[in-house]
Amino acid sequence: MSVKNSVIVVGGGIMGVQTAYHLAQLGHAVTVLDQRDVPNQWAASGDHLRVFRLTYGKDSFYTEMALKAMPLWLELNTLSEETLLLQNGMLELAPKAVGYESQSLEVLKERKIRFEKLLPPDVKKRYPMYKSGAFKWALYHPDGGMIWASRSVAATASIAQRKGVKIRNGVKIVSIQKDKTGIKSVKDAAGKTWEAEKFVFTTGYWSNELLKPWGIPIKITKQEQLFLRPQQGRGRYRPEHFPVFASLTGGFYGFPVHIQGFIKIGDHRKGPVVKAADADDLRTLSPKFEKSCRGFLKKFLPELADFVDFEGHVCWYDNTPDDDFIIDRLPDAPNGFVAAGFSGHGFKFAPIVGKSLAELIVGGKSELNLHRFRLARFKLKK
Ligand SMILES: Cc1cc2nc3c(=O)[nH]c(=O)nc-3n(C[C@H](O)[C@H](O)[C@H](O)COP(=O)(O)OP(=O)(O)OC[C@H]3O[C@@H](n4cnc5c(N)ncnc54)[C@H](O)[C@@H]3O)c2cc1C
Repeated sequence: MSVKNSVIVVGGGIMGVQTAYHLAQLGHAVTVLDQRDVPNQWAASGDHLRVFRLTYGKDSFYTEMALKAMPLWLELNTLSEETLLLQNGMLELAPKAVGYESQSLEVLKERKIRFEKLLPPDVKKRYPMYKSGAFKWALYHPDGGMIWASRSVAATASIAQRKGVKIRNGVKIVSIQKDKTGIKSVKDAAGKTWEAEKFVFTTGYWSNELLKPWGIPIKITKQEQLFLRPQQGRGRYRPEHFPVFASLTGGFYGFPVHIQGFIKIGDHRKGPVVKAADADDLRTLSPKFEKSCRGFLKKFLPELADFVDFEGHVCWYDNTPDDDFIIDRLPDAPNGFVAAGFSGHGFKFAPIVGKSLAELIVGGKSELNLHRFRLARFKLKK
């Protein structure tokens, strides 16, 4: 059996559903295919929360891109009648006077983005749970905050469906049929062929597997996260009192109490490289990671360090060699497009990625300059 579509989007994570929504806005008939549910907990977008920040050290390109994403997130808040992006501020704890945080501060200043430079006593006064000797100063920007991740996927999918987008769960694409003129169809694990004029692959850390003929250079790393319940004074850690925090030089970041009384902590530094994500591994927390979280908390937020009530969650980054994304047309397939390799920092940009990719697919170019994300920067198989 064969099904005809105008555009098929393979992969219904945040990048897939955002692209589908923007394509529908541009008048296209779109079908999204996902091997599991939209959203699902194995996808990078299937977690509770993601950080939204405008700070990227001296890399102002990403600051500009986050600035472009921000109004689109706020529009999604309005359309969904939910607070998917909650701008409860972002506090970055700087270990040194000069470094990543001071470079971020310079970019914020240059772009006239609101921020405050706080000295340890100022931080302590506002947020008494921090140990002031642990950092030299802190950068606070009120536009930063947290994004409800899987809820954003669900909300985008439902708004896209209202625009006519079809979403098909449980369809795993296993092969791509192509001739000299481009991609003709994709085939699913049940043997069904899906035809379309154009194809988009937003398959996250599975992209290596599906796009094997192109040899897309994505390395998968295993990233652990820890959810802990503060033993006392949980109310002080609620989003209205306690901003998203990070000490990115050391790697750690975390969120206020958000779900069932849990605070979440992650480490942005790359975990071990794995060949493929192990779905059985979803909740296994290594003693090593638990220990390093305790170490971080002991230094910065000591009253949280002796947590007893906690859970783990494993997630995988799809890393490119330079940590820049891949948003491009596939070589030798003018009707095939890919957006992948979001290297553990893509979620905040999803609406501008989806909009730009839709513009590229429909009009051949996008308002956002996608040059940095082109495939030609790598040596591909073809
Ligand atoms: C632990 C962790 C923390 C992160 N923290 C942040 C953060 O704080 N801020 C931030 O901005 N970003 C963060 N990120 C990155 C962000 O979550 C990802 O960049 C983003 O979610 C990627 O979305 P995606 O749609 O590309 O991929 P995914 O969400 O992984 O979606 C891919 C989808 O494709 C489907 N699929 C795959 N193969 C097939 C196939 N063959 N057939 C059909 N369907 C298929 C999958 O089922 C899946 O639903 C983090 C990532 C992780 C893992």
